[in-house]
Amino acid sequence: ADSVLRVRDLKVHFPVHDGVLIRRQTGSVKAVDGVSFEVGRSETLGLVGESGCGKSTTGLAILRMTPLTEGRIEFEGQDISHLSVRRMRPLRKRLQMVYQDPYGSLNPRMKVGDLIGEPLVIHGVAGDQDAYRARIQELLRLVGLRPEMAERYPHEFSGGQRQRISIARAVALNPTLVLCDEPVSALDVSIQAQVINLFQELQERLGLSYLFIAHDLAVVRHVSHRIAVMYLGRIVEVAPRDLLYRAPLHPYTRGLLAAAPLPDPSAERSRAHEEIVGEPPSVVNPPSGCHFHPRCPMAMPVCAQRAPELTAAATGHAVACHLHDPSRALDIAASGLAA
Ligand code: SF4
Ligand code: MG
Repeated sequence: ADSVLRVRDLKVHFPVHDGVLIRRQTGSVKAVDGVSFEVGRSETLGLVGESGCGKSTTGLAILRMTPLTEGRIEFEGQDISHLSVRRMRPLRKRLQMVYQDPYGSLNPRMKVGDLIGEPLVIHGVAGDQDAYRARIQELLRLVGLRPEMAERYPHEFSGGQRQRISIARAVALNPTLVLCDEPVSALDVSIQAQVINLFQELQERLGLSYLFIAHDLAVVRHVSHRIAVMYLGRIVEVAPRDLLYRAPLHPYTRGLLAAAPLPDPSAERSRAHEEIVGEPPSVVNPPSGCHFHPRCPMAMPVCAQRAPELTAAATGHAVACHLHDPSRALDIAASGLAA
């Protein structure tokens, strides 16, 4: 298939110091610990997990804003794994970002038109004054704002409108891929759906691909074609959207679904889905084996000993759980025969 982004066994580990002697490294935090996925052309991959699971760090590694420890990142077929921020810059025309905070991410002293036009200026494609102004007006219309809003300042806008301004900035250079890190989490629920609809409209009109990061399965449901669920630095399940909601396999995914207030009451949610108990454990000192085992209602002795591999369960559906490991199933059957 035609992938825009390919991430292979990405690891981002941060050194930990003992707090007394800053030069003595006492370990490492495995913020991202062997993550692989692809985003296809005009596709949205939802990347979901609790805060601290490494989803934002994955985004920063793709943007080359944090160094990777191991693995490979390809953008439009080019290996960008070790590009510096400076050497990454020409590629940033085609790889853009929308952040969570529509208040903090816009310079309050710049007029909206100049905020939207800034990427054009930075990349030297602003053209003459008329072309520049026309492009800004076109971008404002594209995100559902009125052209005369170009003359106003960010503080004059609501949160949802500010996020539209951020989106206009992100698409100004006709990117291929937009990384969206919790782009609606700071907005009122009533506004979230409008902004999500805008993302979908822009995808259809401009052929954009999205990596759409969220902590909540309800938010990514409408926007995603496929969804990857992360837990403490690892992907634990990935599936086409409908399959993930209809037949989730990983106990953590089931727990997230039980916790998420899905707007569709006819969704086939099994009552067997149990809500997740306990706090997410710290990534500084993660549990052995399957990181989820202290919170997992299905945990078995093997779960604390060995980390399950992400294994294909069906076409496009993979899960990292000993319950769904085919070789493990044989073990269980064999021990049954022996007994
Ligand atoms: Fe639960 Fe074990 Fe599966 Fe981990 S591997 S999710 S602890 S059953
Ligand atoms: Mg985050």
